[in-house]
Amino acid sequence: IHPGDPREQLGASGSLWPSEPIILGPGGSARQLVLRKIQELSIEGRQDPFMVADLDVLASRHQTFLQALPQVQPFYAVKCNNRPRVLLVLAALGTGFDCASQGELEQVLGLGVAPSRIIFANPCKAVSHIQYAARCGVQLLTFDSEEELTKVAQHHPGARLVLRIQTQDSGSTFPLNAKFGAQVEACGGLLQAARELGLAVVGASFHVGSDCQTPQSYRQAIADCRRVFEMGRRAGHHMSLLDLGGGFPGIEGSEAKFEEMARVINAARAEYFPEGTGVQVIAEPGRFYAESVCTAVVNIIAKKASLEPGGQRKLAYYLNEGYYGAFRIFLREPVPRTPIVVKEFPSEPCLFPCTLYGPTCDAFDRLFPKEMQLPELDVGDWLIFPDMGAYKSSMSSTFNGFPIITVYDAMSPQIRSLLESAP
Ligand code: PLP
Repeated sequence: IHPGDPREQLGASGSLWPSEPIILGPGGSARQLVLRKIQELSIEGRQDPFMVADLDVLASRHQTFLQALPQVQPFYAVKCNNRPRVLLVLAALGTGFDCASQGELEQVLGLGVAPSRIIFANPCKAVSHIQYAARCGVQLLTFDSEEELTKVAQHHPGARLVLRIQTQDSGSTFPLNAKFGAQVEACGGLLQAARELGLAVVGASFHVGSDCQTPQSYRQAIADCRRVFEMGRRAGHHMSLLDLGGGFPGIEGSEAKFEEMARVINAARAEYFPEGTGVQVIAEPGRFYAESVCTAVVNIIAKKASLEPGGQRKLAYYLNEGYYGAFRIFLREPVPRTPIVVKEFPSEPCLFPCTLYGPTCDAFDRLFPKEMQLPELDVGDWLIFPDMGAYKSSMSSTFNGFPIITVYDAMSPQIRSLLESAP
C-alpha cells in the first residue's frame, strides 16, 4: 500500500496527535490515521515507531462476546493491555476486571471500579498484595495450593476463593498449566484444607492456555469443574461461581473459532451447570478484546545484504522496535506475522528471505525465529503490523535506552460519550 493523499479527509477533529484521544468523524478510520501519521513523520524526517489504538474495537468485541456467550460475564484480563483508556472504555461498557497484582488492582480501583467487579486471578500472590486486596475489599481470589490457603487465612480470611484447576492446554499457543492449576485429584484435599482453615471456596476456574486453538478444551475443563463443585459441596462449601478464564483468540479472522468455542461452552454449561442451579459464570478474556485494537508501525533503521553460497540474496532489516519493546511475544508465536509494507513497487516485487531484528545491541533481539519473505526494502521504509493490542505494549521495556512505543488513541464520538459516563 502507499500512504495516500495528504489532503485526504480524515474526519479527525483538531490536531492529529494531541495527548487527548483523536475523535474520528464520519468516514474517519483508525487505518487512515495510521497512514496520515506515517506521512506526517516522513515529512518531518522522523522515523519514530508508534501504535494507533482504535478504541471502538473494544465495543464491537464486547458486543460479539455477549451475543455469543449471553450467560457469561467478562472480566477483562488487565495484563493484556492496561492502557488507561482501554480500561476506561471497558469499565463504561460494564465489564469486570481480572487483576494479577497490586499494581493492576490499584490501576482498576483508581478508575473508580467497584471491588466487587474485580477478581484477583493470580493463584500465587505475594502476601503484601493479598493484604492490599483485603484492605480494598477485593474479595474474589484464585488459589491452587495449600500454601496459598495458609497465606489467605492469615491475611484475607474474608476472601471468596476460587480454585484454579489444571486443564488440557496443548492446543494453545501459550500454555499456562505447567505453572498454574491444581490437579483435579488434589482438589478434594485442598477444599477440605480450606474448610479447616475457615475459608470460603465459592467456585472453580481454569485457563485453557492463551490463544487456544481447540474449542473442545473448554468442554473438558467445564466437566472437570463440575467434579470440583461436587467435591466442594461435599466439603461444605457453597459453590456458585464458574470461571472460564481466557484463551479466546483475538486476531482478525479468528471469529469463526471464537463462535465455535462459544457453542462448545454453551453446550457444556447446559450439560454440567444447567440453568436454575444458580451458578454465576464469568470469564477472563484478554486478547479477544484487545488484540485487534492496536496497529503498530515501525521503521527500518538499518539494513544488511548478504549472498548465500548458492548465490541467494538474503536481507537483514533492523527495526526501531523489537523483542525488548512491543514485539516481545513474537518469538513465542509459531507463525511469523508478515507486515504490510508501505512502499510502492513497479510490479510484483521479487521476494527475498529476510531476518527482522530489533534495535538493541543484544543479538537475541530479533522479531521471529524464522526468516520471512519480503521485497527489497530500504532504510527509512515503514512496516505496519495489525493486531498488536494484546501483550505488546504492556510487555515493553526500555532496555538499551529505547523508549516505550507511543500509542495514539482514536475513537468515535459515541465512544467518547460513553467514556464521559465511565465510573
Ligand atoms: N486469566 C489469567 C489468569 C491469565 O493468566 C490470562 C493470561 O495469561 C488471562 C486470563 C487472559 O488470557 P487471554 O489473553 O488468553 O484471554
